[in-house]
Amino acid sequence: MTENADLGRYRDKGFFGDVLDYFDRAAVHTGHPIGLLDQIKYCNSVYRMRFPVRLGGGITVVEAFRAEHSHHKLPVKGGIRYSLAVNQDEVMALAALMTFKCAVVDVPFGGAKGGVRINPRAHTELEIEQVTRRYTAELVNKNFIGPGIDVPAPDYGTGAREMAWIADTYRAMNPGSLDASASVTGKPINQDGIHGRTEATGRGVFYGIREAVSVAEDMKALGLSPGLDGKKVVVQGLGNVGLHASRILRDHGAIIVAIAEHEGATQNPDGLDPEDVAAHRQDGSILDYSKGTPIADTRRALEIECDVLIPAALENQINAENADTIRAKIVAEAANGPVTPEAEKVLRSKDVLILPDLYLNAGGVTVSYFEWLKNLSHVRFGRMAKRRDEMVFGTLVGAIESAIGKPLDPAAKRIITQGANEVDLVNSGLEETMVQAYREIRDKKNANSAVEDLRTAAFVLAIDKIAQAYMAAGIFL
Ligand code: NAD
Repeated sequence: MTENADLGRYRDKGFFGDVLDYFDRAAVHTGHPIGLLDQIKYCNSVYRMRFPVRLGGGITVVEAFRAEHSHHKLPVKGGIRYSLAVNQDEVMALAALMTFKCAVVDVPFGGAKGGVRINPRAHTELEIEQVTRRYTAELVNKNFIGPGIDVPAPDYGTGAREMAWIADTYRAMNPGSLDASASVTGKPINQDGIHGRTEATGRGVFYGIREAVSVAEDMKALGLSPGLDGKKVVVQGLGNVGLHASRILRDHGAIIVAIAEHEGATQNPDGLDPEDVAAHRQDGSILDYSKGTPIADTRRALEIECDVLIPAALENQINAENADTIRAKIVAEAANGPVTPEAEKVLRSKDVLILPDLYLNAGGVTVSYFEWLKNLSHVRFGRMAKRRDEMVFGTLVGAIESAIGKPLDPAAKRIITQGANEVDLVNSGLEETMVQAYREIRDKKNANSAVEDLRTAAFVLAIDKIAQAYMAAGIFL
């Protein structure tokens, strides 16, 4: 089985086929037995359900899914997507990506994904709540949810609100369960959520891009200077991931030159304020945003010349039809599966650096892991140590000031004497995770000249780690 012969084998099989393509391309570099690779590659279980809900005055049958890709570690974990485009292929593909994503960033979960085929914008809050609660009840009844079984999170079209309904339904159906909160992550802060989870995926995208552009040698190859300062960025999708990623990038010196949404795009070479654009879109269209030039056909925004293009909307956005028009030096996959394998070939032939989804958007599941740990331990991060640290560091600073006979700089003193609170620890853990994983992926690529790109390297890394987990469990001995 050669890399090139295998590529494209699953082309007719949609998004999941794309993921299998990527898997195969990496698997040839691992040397694991074929049976073990088969076990790692395919989805272990898929639950397809149909249930009736009262929507818009009548009864509507809603189709929904939950796919659990790999049980090599438990629980399995992955978001729930609400969209009319949801289908079994997509859910399986996203579940598989979750498995490899968790492995890449050392989050001890298998991968899963859920999807409900509804348009959340077309229904009232009460209707969405009814759908969410009924979906959760189906998952409970089939043992597809639980703190040690399968732990959902937000994804496209869902957020903290839906996660709160899921936790409440799970709790109601499992009376007395001490760990019910750990059955789902991405919950509101006042309902056992964790500070920093909402922006975690976008913040992780920021850390990943920052890490990639900090490597002078790699930037030189692209004709770029190292560092974020002045980098021109185009963002597609101003939802949870796109908004926070672009906001934090801008705060660190990048210039957001265009933002694309489903109704159109806006462009400003001097830079856009993502929060201002998002606020404007609350009651209007991006096309009449006054501080930018409108682009009626949103797809044209992807063609703008820039340093970093961030697709943060949905899969298949850069495909065989438009890959040749992309004029970015770096494509940072904040969304899942935004670049098809055919498009990737074109981008690579143009020496575009692709930061792969299974690494770049892993910030969400990383902080979900922290939330799960918090729920199981029933104590907020920082609660035990914050005051003690402040007392110890305050005493130390006082002793230093007496010894040198003058006060320390007030700003430095504040940083030294402040005990870490929850969000500080969450962001620190997230930064460490993203930095460490990028270095591991890059090292994996550089260790084998046949591994040509970061996606293949990330898959090799993930497959190796999952294979080791199976071997350690003695399953294949
Ligand atoms: P979201 O629903 O909050 O935002 C998506 C945005 O994309 C919306 O504003 C939507 O209007 C816009 N959009 C849809 N089609 C578009 C198009 N053709 N052109 C431009 N914009 C378009 O979803 P999200 O949570 O930000 O997720 C976005 C992507 O990131 C998805 O692929 C998701 O799987 C992935 N992801 C999300 C998380 C998370 O924590 N939310 C974690 C990992 C990966």
